[in-house]
Amino acid sequence: MHDLLIANVHLATMLDGYGELRDGAIAVKDGRIAWLGAEADAAPATRTIDGAGAWLTPGLIDCHTHIVHAGNRSSEFEARLNGASYEDIARAGGGIMSTVRATRAAGSEALLHESVPRVLRLLAEGVTTVEIKSGYGLAMDSEHAMLATARRIGAVLPVRVATTFLGAHALPPDYARRSEDYIDAVCTQMLPELARAGLVDAVDAFCERIAFTPAQTERVFAAAAALGLPVKLHAEQLSDQGGAALVARYHGLSADHLEHVTQAGIDAMAAAGTVAVLLPGAYYFLRETQPPPVAALRSAGVPMAIATDCNPGTSPLTSLLLAMNMACTLWRLTPAEALAGCTVHAARALGLQHDIGTLEVGKCADFALWDIARPADLAYAMGFNPCRMVVNAGVPRAPVVSWPQP
Ligand SMILES: [Zn+2]
Repeated sequence: MHDLLIANVHLATMLDGYGELRDGAIAVKDGRIAWLGAEADAAPATRTIDGAGAWLTPGLIDCHTHIVHAGNRSSEFEARLNGASYEDIARAGGGIMSTVRATRAAGSEALLHESVPRVLRLLAEGVTTVEIKSGYGLAMDSEHAMLATARRIGAVLPVRVATTFLGAHALPPDYARRSEDYIDAVCTQMLPELARAGLVDAVDAFCERIAFTPAQTERVFAAAAALGLPVKLHAEQLSDQGGAALVARYHGLSADHLEHVTQAGIDAMAAAGTVAVLLPGAYYFLRETQPPPVAALRSAGVPMAIATDCNPGTSPLTSLLLAMNMACTLWRLTPAEALAGCTVHAARALGLQHDIGTLEVGKCADFALWDIARPADLAYAMGFNPCRMVVNAGVPRAPVVSWPQP
Protein backbone atom coordinates (compact mmCIF):
# COMPACT_ATOMS: atom_id res chain seq x y z
CA MET A 1 0.00 0.00 0.00
CA HIS A 2 1.37 3.43 -0.96
CA ASP A 3 1.56 6.16 1.70
CA LEU A 4 0.14 8.91 -0.50
CA LEU A 5 -1.70 9.13 -3.80
CA ILE A 6 -2.18 12.46 -5.56
CA ALA A 7 -4.96 11.87 -8.05
CA ASN A 8 -6.70 13.96 -10.70
CA VAL A 9 -3.58 15.86 -11.80
CA HIS A 10 -1.72 16.55 -15.03
CA LEU A 11 1.92 15.58 -14.64
CA ALA A 12 4.90 17.40 -16.18
CA THR A 13 7.58 14.76 -15.66
CA MET A 14 10.26 16.96 -17.32
CA LEU A 15 11.54 13.94 -19.22
CA ASP A 16 11.86 15.06 -22.86
CA GLY A 17 10.46 18.60 -22.74
CA TYR A 18 7.56 18.92 -20.35
CA GLY A 19 6.97 15.15 -20.50
CA GLU A 20 3.22 15.73 -20.21
CA LEU A 21 0.99 13.04 -18.78
CA ARG A 22 -2.57 14.32 -18.65
CA ASP A 23 -5.27 12.92 -16.36
CA GLY A 24 -2.64 11.18 -14.28
CA ALA A 25 -1.85 10.31 -10.69
CA ILE A 26 1.33 9.84 -8.67
CA ALA A 27 1.98 7.62 -5.65
CA VAL A 28 4.55 7.98 -2.87
CA LYS A 29 6.09 5.39 -0.56
CA ASP A 30 8.68 6.24 2.12
CA GLY A 31 9.21 9.72 0.70
CA ARG A 32 9.94 8.49 -2.83
CA ILE A 33 7.95 8.24 -6.03
CA ALA A 34 6.59 4.67 -6.10
CA TRP A 35 4.35 4.87 -9.14
CA LEU A 36 2.95 7.31 -11.68
CA GLY A 37 0.59 6.80 -14.57
CA ALA A 38 -2.96 7.17 -15.80
CA GLU A 39 -5.51 8.04 -13.14
CA ALA A 40 -7.58 4.98 -14.09
CA ASP A 41 -4.70 2.64 -13.19
CA ALA A 42 -3.99 4.09 -9.74
CA ALA A 43 -4.04 1.70 -6.77
CA PRO A 44 -5.52 2.87 -3.45
CA ALA A 45 -3.19 4.45 -0.87
CA THR A 46 -3.28 5.19 2.85
CA ARG A 47 -3.98 8.83 2.04
CA THR A 48 -5.38 10.29 -1.18
CA ILE A 49 -5.30 13.96 -2.22
CA ASP A 50 -7.60 15.14 -5.00
CA GLY A 51 -5.48 17.38 -7.22
CA ALA A 52 -8.63 18.87 -8.76
CA GLY A 53 -7.08 19.17 -12.22
CA ALA A 54 -3.92 20.95 -11.10
CA TRP A 55 -0.58 20.55 -12.86
CA LEU A 56 2.05 18.70 -10.83
CA THR A 57 5.73 19.35 -11.56
CA PRO A 58 8.93 18.37 -9.78
CA GLY A 59 9.58 20.78 -6.91
CA LEU A 60 11.47 23.80 -8.22
CA ILE A 61 15.22 24.06 -7.61
CA ASP A 62 17.01 27.40 -7.17
CA CYS A 63 20.56 26.29 -7.96
CA HIS A 64 22.48 29.58 -7.44
CA THR A 65 21.84 31.90 -4.49
CA HIS A 66 23.68 34.08 -1.99
CA ILE A 67 20.50 34.20 0.08
CA VAL A 68 22.26 34.04 3.48
CA HIS A 69 23.56 37.54 4.17
CA ALA A 70 22.93 40.48 6.49
CA GLY A 71 21.70 43.91 5.51
CA ASN A 72 20.75 45.10 2.07
CA ARG A 73 22.00 47.72 -0.37
CA SER A 74 18.82 49.68 -1.09
CA SER A 75 20.57 52.89 0.02
CA GLU A 76 23.14 52.41 -2.76
CA PHE A 77 20.37 51.65 -5.21
CA GLU A 78 18.67 54.89 -4.24
CA ALA A 79 21.88 56.94 -4.21
CA ARG A 80 22.77 55.78 -7.71
CA LEU A 81 19.33 56.69 -9.00
CA ASN A 82 19.80 60.10 -7.41
CA GLY A 83 22.97 60.59 -9.42
CA ALA A 84 25.78 59.19 -7.22
CA SER A 85 28.67 57.54 -9.09
CA TYR A 86 30.22 54.18 -8.26
CA GLU A 87 33.21 56.08 -6.85
CA ASP A 88 30.93 58.11 -4.55
CA ILE A 89 29.37 54.88 -3.30
CA ALA A 90 32.73 53.14 -2.85
CA ARG A 91 34.07 56.19 -0.94
CA ALA A 92 31.02 56.01 1.32
CA GLY A 93 31.91 52.37 2.13
CA GLY A 94 29.34 50.78 -0.19
CA GLY A 95 29.56 47.81 -2.53
CA ILE A 96 30.21 44.19 -1.64
CA MET A 97 32.33 45.14 1.39
CA SER A 98 29.29 46.74 3.03
CA THR A 99 27.60 43.32 2.88
CA VAL A 100 30.79 41.69 4.20
CA ARG A 101 30.86 44.10 7.16
CA ALA A 102 27.16 43.54 7.90
CA THR A 103 27.48 39.75 7.61
CA ARG A 104 30.59 39.62 9.81
CA ALA A 105 28.88 41.81 12.42
CA ALA A 106 25.65 39.79 12.53
CA GLY A 107 25.61 36.92 14.97
CA SER A 108 24.37 33.53 13.84
CA GLU A 109 20.85 34.20 15.11
CA ALA A 110 20.59 37.51 13.25
CA LEU A 111 21.92 35.91 10.08
CA LEU A 112 19.27 33.19 10.31
CA HIS A 113 16.44 35.61 11.05
CA GLU A 114 17.41 37.97 8.23
CA SER A 115 17.77 35.15 5.71
CA VAL A 116 14.69 33.04 6.48
CA PRO A 117 12.09 35.52 5.12
CA ARG A 118 13.87 35.50 1.76
CA VAL A 119 13.88 31.70 1.68
CA LEU A 120 10.17 31.69 2.55
CA ARG A 121 9.46 33.73 -0.58
CA LEU A 122 11.07 30.97 -2.64
CA LEU A 123 9.23 28.21 -0.78
CA ALA A 124 5.87 29.89 -1.49
CA GLU A 125 6.58 29.45 -5.21
CA GLY A 126 7.09 25.71 -5.09
CA VAL A 127 10.84 25.64 -4.42
CA THR A 128 11.91 22.45 -2.64
CA THR A 129 15.71 22.71 -3.06
CA VAL A 130 17.91 25.77 -2.75
CA GLU A 131 21.66 26.17 -3.17
CA ILE A 132 23.23 28.64 -0.73
CA LYS A 133 26.74 30.05 -1.09
CA SER A 134 29.07 31.56 1.46
CA GLY A 135 31.29 34.44 0.33
CA TYR A 136 30.31 37.45 2.44
CA GLY A 137 32.45 36.40 5.40
CA LEU A 138 35.82 36.00 3.64
CA ALA A 139 37.34 34.82 6.93
CA MET A 140 37.17 31.49 8.73
CA ASP A 141 34.64 32.34 11.45
CA SER A 142 32.24 34.31 9.27
CA GLU A 143 32.35 31.84 6.36
CA HIS A 144 31.65 29.09 8.90
CA ALA A 145 28.70 31.09 10.26
CA MET A 146 27.23 31.55 6.77
CA LEU A 147 27.45 27.86 5.87
CA ALA A 148 26.19 26.74 9.29
CA THR A 149 23.23 29.12 8.83
CA ALA A 150 22.53 27.57 5.44
CA ARG A 151 22.50 24.10 7.04
CA ARG A 152 20.17 25.36 9.80
CA ILE A 153 17.75 26.68 7.18
CA GLY A 154 17.59 23.17 5.78
CA ALA A 155 16.89 21.84 9.27
CA VAL A 156 14.19 24.33 10.35
CA LEU A 157 12.34 24.86 7.06
CA PRO A 158 10.82 22.35 4.61
CA VAL A 159 13.57 22.69 2.00
CA ARG A 160 16.65 20.76 0.94
CA VAL A 161 19.76 22.96 1.11
CA ALA A 162 22.93 22.41 -0.93
CA THR A 163 25.86 24.44 0.41
CA THR A 164 28.66 25.96 -1.66
CA PHE A 165 31.88 27.42 -0.26
CA LEU A 166 32.63 30.67 -2.10
CA GLY A 167 35.61 31.92 -0.12
CA ALA A 168 37.13 33.16 -3.39
CA HIS A 169 34.32 35.66 -3.95
CA ALA A 170 36.19 38.91 -3.28
CA LEU A 171 39.45 40.00 -1.70
CA PRO A 172 38.83 41.06 1.91
CA PRO A 173 40.35 44.42 2.97
CA ASP A 174 42.70 42.73 5.45
CA TYR A 175 44.39 41.05 2.44
CA ALA A 176 44.59 44.18 0.23
CA ARG A 177 47.26 43.68 -2.48
CA ARG A 178 47.92 40.16 -1.10
CA SER A 179 45.51 38.11 -3.18
CA GLU A 180 47.91 35.15 -3.41
CA ASP A 181 48.10 35.03 0.39
CA TYR A 182 44.30 35.09 0.58
CA ILE A 183 44.00 32.22 -1.92
CA ASP A 184 46.53 30.34 0.25
CA ALA A 185 44.23 30.83 3.24
CA VAL A 186 41.19 29.72 1.22
CA CYS A 187 42.92 26.55 -0.03
CA THR A 188 44.94 25.47 2.99
CA GLN A 189 42.88 26.70 5.95
CA MET A 190 39.27 27.66 5.26
CA LEU A 191 38.25 25.01 2.74
CA PRO A 192 39.79 21.99 4.51
CA GLU A 193 38.39 23.00 7.90
CA LEU A 194 34.89 23.82 6.61
CA ALA A 195 34.84 20.59 4.59
CA ARG A 196 35.88 18.64 7.70
CA ALA A 197 32.96 20.26 9.53
CA GLY A 198 30.62 18.82 6.89
CA LEU A 199 29.54 22.28 5.71
CA VAL A 200 30.65 22.11 2.05
CA ASP A 201 28.77 20.30 -0.72
CA ALA A 202 30.56 22.13 -3.57
CA VAL A 203 33.21 24.81 -4.13
CA ASP A 204 32.79 27.98 -6.21
CA ALA A 205 34.92 31.00 -7.13
CA PHE A 206 34.53 34.35 -8.92
CA CYS A 207 36.91 34.38 -11.89
CA GLU A 208 36.91 37.95 -13.21
CA ARG A 209 39.16 40.98 -13.64
CA ILE A 210 37.60 42.51 -10.52
CA ALA A 211 37.95 39.26 -8.54
CA PHE A 212 40.38 36.34 -9.00
CA THR A 213 42.54 35.24 -11.94
CA PRO A 214 42.15 31.91 -13.78
CA ALA A 215 45.40 30.72 -12.14
CA GLN A 216 44.08 31.56 -8.66
CA THR A 217 40.74 29.92 -9.51
CA GLU A 218 42.58 26.79 -10.58
CA ARG A 219 44.36 26.64 -7.22
CA VAL A 220 40.95 26.64 -5.52
CA PHE A 221 39.72 23.90 -7.86
CA ALA A 222 42.80 21.78 -7.18
CA ALA A 223 42.21 22.13 -3.43
CA ALA A 224 38.57 21.10 -3.90
CA ALA A 225 39.56 18.11 -6.04
CA ALA A 226 42.02 16.98 -3.37
CA LEU A 227 39.10 16.87 -0.92
CA GLY A 228 36.84 15.10 -3.42
CA LEU A 229 34.50 18.09 -3.68
CA PRO A 230 32.79 19.13 -6.95
CA VAL A 231 33.36 22.63 -8.34
CA LYS A 232 31.36 25.35 -10.09
CA LEU A 233 32.32 28.86 -11.20
CA HIS A 234 31.10 32.43 -11.62
CA ALA A 235 32.43 32.62 -15.17
CA GLU A 236 32.41 35.10 -18.03
CA GLN A 237 29.91 37.48 -16.39
CA LEU A 238 31.69 40.72 -17.29
CA SER A 239 34.51 39.55 -19.58
CA ASP A 240 35.93 36.39 -21.15
CA GLN A 241 38.48 34.86 -18.77
CA GLY A 242 38.38 31.29 -20.09
CA GLY A 243 36.56 30.31 -16.89
CA ALA A 244 34.00 28.07 -18.57
CA ALA A 245 36.72 25.93 -20.14
CA LEU A 246 38.62 25.89 -16.84
CA VAL A 247 35.67 24.63 -14.81
CA ALA A 248 34.86 22.10 -17.55
CA ARG A 249 38.45 20.79 -17.32
CA TYR A 250 37.72 20.01 -13.64
CA HIS A 251 34.46 18.27 -14.68
CA GLY A 252 32.62 21.09 -12.94
CA LEU A 253 28.94 20.89 -12.13
CA SER A 254 28.22 24.30 -13.64
CA ALA A 255 29.53 27.53 -15.12
CA ASP A 256 27.31 30.41 -14.07
CA HIS A 257 26.41 33.78 -15.73
CA LEU A 258 28.28 33.24 -19.08
CA GLU A 259 27.26 36.45 -20.85
CA HIS A 260 30.77 36.62 -22.38
CA VAL A 261 31.50 32.90 -22.93
CA THR A 262 33.15 31.96 -26.25
CA GLN A 263 32.42 29.01 -28.53
CA ALA A 264 35.55 27.28 -27.17
CA GLY A 265 34.11 27.58 -23.65
CA ILE A 266 30.75 26.24 -24.82
CA ASP A 267 32.39 23.28 -26.56
CA ALA A 268 34.39 22.44 -23.44
CA MET A 269 31.23 22.58 -21.31
CA ALA A 270 29.35 20.36 -23.76
CA ALA A 271 32.16 17.78 -23.72
CA ALA A 272 32.35 17.75 -19.91
CA GLY A 273 28.60 17.81 -19.25
CA THR A 274 28.92 21.09 -17.34
CA VAL A 275 25.58 22.91 -16.90
CA ALA A 276 25.16 26.57 -17.94
CA VAL A 277 23.44 28.38 -15.05
CA LEU A 278 21.83 31.54 -16.45
CA LEU A 279 21.06 34.39 -14.06
CA PRO A 280 18.70 36.92 -15.62
CA GLY A 281 18.14 38.84 -12.37
CA ALA A 282 21.72 40.18 -12.31
CA TYR A 283 21.64 40.94 -16.05
CA TYR A 284 18.44 42.93 -15.52
CA PHE A 285 19.50 44.70 -12.33
CA LEU A 286 22.89 45.74 -13.79
CA ARG A 287 21.21 46.73 -17.07
CA GLU A 288 23.68 44.58 -18.99
CA THR A 289 23.39 44.56 -22.76
CA GLN A 290 25.33 41.42 -23.76
CA PRO A 291 23.03 38.40 -23.40
CA PRO A 292 24.45 34.91 -22.85
CA PRO A 293 24.74 33.00 -26.16
CA VAL A 294 21.61 30.94 -25.66
CA ALA A 295 21.36 29.75 -29.27
CA ALA A 296 24.97 28.49 -29.25
CA LEU A 297 24.48 26.77 -25.86
CA ARG A 298 21.30 25.16 -27.17
CA SER A 299 22.86 23.90 -30.39
CA ALA A 300 25.89 22.53 -28.51
CA GLY A 301 23.53 20.60 -26.24
CA VAL A 302 24.69 22.32 -23.04
CA PRO A 303 21.94 21.95 -20.40
CA MET A 304 20.71 25.38 -19.29
CA ALA A 305 19.54 26.06 -15.73
CA ILE A 306 17.89 29.26 -14.41
CA ALA A 307 18.40 30.64 -10.90
CA THR A 308 17.66 33.80 -8.92
CA ASP A 309 21.28 34.57 -7.89
CA CYS A 310 19.53 36.15 -4.87
CA ASN A 311 22.09 38.63 -3.49
CA PRO A 312 21.94 42.16 -2.08
CA GLY A 313 24.21 43.86 -4.61
CA THR A 314 23.26 42.73 -8.11
CA SER A 315 20.14 40.55 -7.89
CA PRO A 316 17.83 41.19 -4.93
CA LEU A 317 15.41 38.65 -6.40
CA THR A 318 13.42 36.06 -4.47
CA SER A 319 11.14 34.82 -7.26
CA LEU A 320 12.23 31.87 -9.36
CA LEU A 321 9.06 32.21 -11.43
CA LEU A 322 10.05 35.78 -12.33
CA ALA A 323 13.55 34.56 -13.24
CA MET A 324 11.89 32.08 -15.64
CA ASN A 325 9.89 34.88 -17.24
CA MET A 326 13.02 37.05 -17.56
CA ALA A 327 14.96 34.21 -19.22
CA CYS A 328 12.19 33.86 -21.81
CA THR A 329 11.57 37.56 -22.36
CA LEU A 330 15.14 38.86 -22.26
CA TRP A 331 16.97 35.89 -23.78
CA ARG A 332 14.34 33.97 -25.76
CA LEU A 333 14.43 30.70 -23.86
CA THR A 334 11.28 28.70 -24.47
CA PRO A 335 8.91 28.21 -21.51
CA ALA A 336 9.79 24.49 -21.59
CA GLU A 337 13.50 25.35 -21.39
CA ALA A 338 12.81 27.73 -18.51
CA LEU A 339 10.95 25.06 -16.52
CA ALA A 340 13.65 22.48 -17.30
CA GLY A 341 16.10 25.12 -16.07
CA CYS A 342 14.46 25.13 -12.64
CA THR A 343 13.98 21.35 -12.42
CA VAL A 344 15.93 18.72 -14.35
CA HIS A 345 18.93 20.87 -15.31
CA ALA A 346 19.08 22.69 -11.98
CA ALA A 347 19.30 19.29 -10.28
CA ARG A 348 22.28 18.43 -12.45
CA ALA A 349 23.93 21.80 -11.64
CA LEU A 350 23.94 20.58 -8.02
CA GLY A 351 24.97 17.00 -8.78
CA LEU A 352 21.56 15.84 -7.50
CA GLN A 353 20.16 14.61 -10.81
CA HIS A 354 19.84 11.04 -9.52
CA ASP A 355 17.54 12.16 -6.70
CA ILE A 356 15.48 15.17 -7.81
CA GLY A 357 14.49 17.26 -10.84
CA THR A 358 12.15 14.90 -12.71
CA LEU A 359 9.12 12.76 -11.91
CA GLU A 360 10.50 9.22 -12.07
CA VAL A 361 9.95 6.16 -9.93
CA GLY A 362 12.59 6.01 -7.21
CA LYS A 363 13.29 9.73 -7.07
CA CYS A 364 12.55 11.87 -4.03
CA ALA A 365 8.86 12.89 -3.86
CA ASP A 366 9.41 16.67 -4.12
CA PHE A 367 6.47 18.21 -6.01
CA ALA A 368 4.75 21.51 -6.69
CA LEU A 369 1.06 21.68 -7.65
CA TRP A 370 -0.10 24.61 -9.75
CA ASP A 371 -3.46 26.12 -10.63
CA ILE A 372 -2.59 26.66 -14.28
CA ALA A 373 -4.03 25.63 -17.62
CA ARG A 374 -0.70 24.57 -19.13
CA PRO A 375 2.96 24.47 -18.04
CA ALA A 376 3.88 27.56 -20.10
CA ASP A 377 1.79 29.63 -17.66
CA LEU A 378 4.63 29.36 -15.14
CA ALA A 379 7.02 31.37 -17.34
CA TYR A 380 4.32 33.59 -18.80
CA ALA A 381 2.88 35.51 -15.87
CA MET A 382 4.80 38.17 -13.93
CA GLY A 383 4.25 38.64 -10.21
CA PHE A 384 1.60 35.94 -10.13
CA ASN A 385 2.01 32.84 -8.00
CA PRO A 386 -0.31 29.96 -8.94
CA CYS A 387 1.26 27.47 -6.49
CA ARG A 388 -1.46 25.55 -4.66
CA MET A 389 0.46 22.92 -2.73
CA VAL A 390 4.00 21.66 -2.24
CA VAL A 391 5.24 18.19 -1.31
CA ASN A 392 8.65 17.78 0.35
CA ALA A 393 9.89 14.17 0.35
CA GLY A 394 6.31 12.91 0.38
CA VAL A 395 5.05 15.37 3.01
CA PRO A 396 2.40 17.81 1.70
CA ARG A 397 2.43 21.44 2.87
CA ALA A 398 0.80 24.76 2.06
CA PRO A 399 2.97 27.02 -0.15
CA VAL A 400 3.13 29.74 2.53
CA VAL A 401 5.23 28.52 5.47
CA SER A 402 5.00 30.31 8.80
CA TRP A 403 8.04 31.49 10.71
CA PRO A 404 9.05 30.87 13.39
CA GLN A 405 7.86 27.31 13.00
CA PRO A 406 5.11 26.46 15.51
ZN1 LIG B 1 26.37 34.55 -7.81
